[in-house]
Amino acid sequence: MLVPQRTDASDVRIAARRLAPFALCGLVAFALVPFSGAIAVRWPEVAIAFAITSLLGVLALLKPSLTEPRHADAGALVALVAIALLRDGTGGARGGYGITVMVPVLWVALYGTRPQLWRLLFAVALMFTVPLVAIGEPRYAATGWRSVPLTLLASTLVGVVVQELLARERQSSDLVQAEHARSTAILSSMREGFALTRDGVIVDVNPALTALTGFTRDELIGARTPFPFWPLDQMAALQRVRAQIKAERGGTFETTFRRADGSRFVAEVTAVPVPQPDDGSTVFLNTMRDVTERRAAEQAMEERGEQLAQLATVTRVIAHANPDDARETVCGLALRISNATTAQIRQLDETDDPDARRAIDTRTAVFLPTGPHGADAELFQPILDEGRAIGVLALTWTTRKQALDASETHLLELLANEAAVALVKASAHAELERLVRTDPLTGLPNRRALEEHHERELAAAARSGRPLCLAIIDLDRFKDYNDTYGHPAGDALLRAAAAGWSARLRATDVLARWGGEEFCLLLPGCDEAGACALIEQLRPVVPQGQTFSAGVALWTPGVGAEQLIAQADAALYRAKRDGRNRTATALGARAA
Ligand code: GH3
Ligand code: MG
Ligand code: MG
Repeated sequence: MLVPQRTDASDVRIAARRLAPFALCGLVAFALVPFSGAIAVRWPEVAIAFAITSLLGVLALLKPSLTEPRHADAGALVALVAIALLRDGTGGARGGYGITVMVPVLWVALYGTRPQLWRLLFAVALMFTVPLVAIGEPRYAATGWRSVPLTLLASTLVGVVVQELLARERQSSDLVQAEHARSTAILSSMREGFALTRDGVIVDVNPALTALTGFTRDELIGARTPFPFWPLDQMAALQRVRAQIKAERGGTFETTFRRADGSRFVAEVTAVPVPQPDDGSTVFLNTMRDVTERRAAEQAMEERGEQLAQLATVTRVIAHANPDDARETVCGLALRISNATTAQIRQLDETDDPDARRAIDTRTAVFLPTGPHGADAELFQPILDEGRAIGVLALTWTTRKQALDASETHLLELLANEAAVALVKASAHAELERLVRTDPLTGLPNRRALEEHHERELAAAARSGRPLCLAIIDLDRFKDYNDTYGHPAGDALLRAAAAGWSARLRATDVLARWGGEEFCLLLPGCDEAGACALIEQLRPVVPQGQTFSAGVALWTPGVGAEQLIAQADAALYRAKRDGRNRTATALGARAA
């Protein structure tokens, strides 16, 4: 049997507790000696018996191991000797001290083994029979032999029955202990907190619960509702949950609890009722699982989900919006995802920053955390189009930022892909814009582009009050030229004239191809005379001695774009009618 280690003091206490009833028996036995009636007491024998008994008691107290089972018979046998002497000293068989053999028998029955008991009973038999034979009458009358088997039988019965009962008791308590050890082991190994409650009182807790709540086992066991880990502001809700659990016989709920240090955590508690067959009561097995992290993860997932939904929106916006809006949308979402302070999409020609260049060259993100002197954190996320870097998404944080987390990185990568779409679309858009507004033969703005310029210049003239002239130039007899030299030569002439004229114009002048061999010239800040003078400078530029006629109209307040063109056209018509190779103004034709 496994004997748990104890301190010496407690060993002595245990020994004393074991010895006490036996010592009392001994004391009473000796105390009664003077009252043994007519029989002459042999005091020396009694004294020796007393000395042996006392010595035995003191020895057992000084050396508690003597009270252990392995020495149970030794003490009993010594006590038996003392009893034999006491019996002999107080009148032998008639003194009535024979019954005291029950004391050592009981001792061995309680603390000894079965063989020890048999040995002791054998010694008891000897103790009764030896004086009968060796000493005999009158102290040990032959008639007294009957008491020998009776006493032996009674002793055997008491000894064996007590031992049986104890063995049974020990067995069941061993089982209970093993059961308890097993459940304690299970509870200790549980990662979830556990509390056993009965009638709203905590009966048992496991280490995980003390770790989770920060309350000690002693603080928790015996605590009644409200339990220490119930936050004050949740009391009502928790009482409600408790009532519900009792009514529904168990259940699971999730709520906020508090730790001993006052901090909060969210836990999922499952309460399982276990009816107790012995007293009809119900105990609850409660497990408590910290779900703070799960909650946070769920929340983060939700947030990420939202951001992904926004990303999907960005994708849709980019598909429909113009490139500038798309850039703005991408930057806006980048700010939201990263909590950055600024977000910018930079194209290749806008990236002179060495770190941005590095991101582009390596095609991997470059993150610069907040520096030791509080420098802004920066991220350059390359924008890749089919594996080719076409720009960077540049973010800066003025708040402290040491690293990007995985989901941030992932979302920003996705966003950079969207930015790529926006950039590619922007350049395609710009190209398309250029094509839509450019005359393919001469490279000049076309009629559509001119109309836009026209509206703008009219508005500017109206605002500034500065003059604005519109001229229409039409090549003379161009049909004939084509017919003579061929259409390609005609094209070449148109191109050469356009290039030559463009070179002679101011940056603010707009020359556009109006259609066919007709050109339109918008001259801001130019009055009629100025326009005519300029047009004269354009005449020699036309190759092959070809000529043109021009009609000039000066804008006057209240005149719209179409009206101004009509006026110039009318002037042109007059110039043609008056013989060509000349300029006519809306007010009157002027010879070249
Ligand atoms: P005028 O204006 O002096 O009355 O005579 P015109 O021969 O120029 O008369 P009209 O305006 O009727 O003819 C315009 C000609 O310009 C017709 C066409 O052959 C020629 N033309 C128009 N567009 C192009 C072009 O893109 N390339 C070439 N090569 N010729 C063109
Ligand atoms: Mg024409
Ligand atoms: Mg013409």
